[in-house]
Amino acid sequence: MSDKKKILVTGDRPTGNLHLGHYVGTLENRIKLQDSFDCYFLIADLHMLTTHQDRVAHLKDNIIELVVDWMSVGLDPNKSCFYLQSKIPEISELTVLLSMLCSVPRIQRIPTLKEKITSMNLNDNYSLGLLSYPVLMSSDILAFNASVVPVGEDQLSHVELTREIARRFNSTYKNLLVEPDPMISKVSRLVGTDGQGKMSKSLNNSIYLSDPEKVVKKKVMKMFTDPNRTSADIPGKVEGNPLFIYHDIFNSNLAELEEFKDRYKRGKIGDVEVKDSLVRNINNFLDPIRQKRSEILRNKSEILDIIIEGSKRAREATRKNLELIKEAMSLNFK
Ligand code: AMP
Repeated sequence: MSDKKKILVTGDRPTGNLHLGHYVGTLENRIKLQDSFDCYFLIADLHMLTTHQDRVAHLKDNIIELVVDWMSVGLDPNKSCFYLQSKIPEISELTVLLSMLCSVPRIQRIPTLKEKITSMNLNDNYSLGLLSYPVLMSSDILAFNASVVPVGEDQLSHVELTREIARRFNSTYKNLLVEPDPMISKVSRLVGTDGQGKMSKSLNNSIYLSDPEKVVKKKVMKMFTDPNRTSADIPGKVEGNPLFIYHDIFNSNLAELEEFKDRYKRGKIGDVEVKDSLVRNINNFLDPIRQKRSEILRNKSEILDIIIEGSKRAREATRKNLELIKEAMSLNFK
């Protein structure tokens, strides 16, 4: 990795396998940016604890599985640094320091935090760890002085908070921290197969990168379409219809797609024909990923070394930055 390249930080929580939403929302960008940026990919185990503190039994397997998912889509540990958040105590230390620069109401206004509290029925009984996770996320980014953060739409408010904290730090202490730019992908919020909300591990509406062909078929065949179209001869709605949202992403045969849309709008095609084609297209997309996955699984024992080596490298990068940050805050008593 060259010193001249700009730094990119992003990552995922090890809470289970990655799905098509992760691919279009962030992995695709990461793959493209690997050569032009100094990339740090975070395995966010501390973030996982903010919502799953009691579900640690399979944590190690989930960490390994996350890296298998990354490598199966083409993230390359020889180009980019894969590291485990809890192996970098500097990130936690920075969280304490940066938390002095944020008011509690500012954090409480973050929409993703509000959504998490609501979806987990926590009312006002949420943990201090959950409340401060946006500051932890800012530390993930600022610890490396990253310039770019590829994220899904839901994470934009976190990058905005990070920029604010960087500005506040720079004006209070010393002009040290880079204000990172978010990078939003073409599809920043892929809807789930249930058509209700975004594709999410916890909502049982996901097609996983590791799903076998038959599972993809089953999920697509059950997929939510136009609810008013109870038979094939009723004209259907294409806009906002998950079936066509997925086709737009995964079907590269534009002529076929236009024909499907036209016939669908006129009530001249059954859902099954459109779904059959989508199954084929998603499976064509996933086939090379599945193949790569089985190659990686043959050398699964190497993954532990990749994480340990990457974490050492990441720690070294953050250690230097943290020293400068503490010096700027007069925390260099000798
Ligand atoms: P998470 O699994 O919630 O930790 O998300 C990891 C990354 O994937 C974040 O950048 C999310 O914004 C992105 N992501 C997760 N689900 C989706 C989705 N359904 N559509 C687009 N991006 C997503």
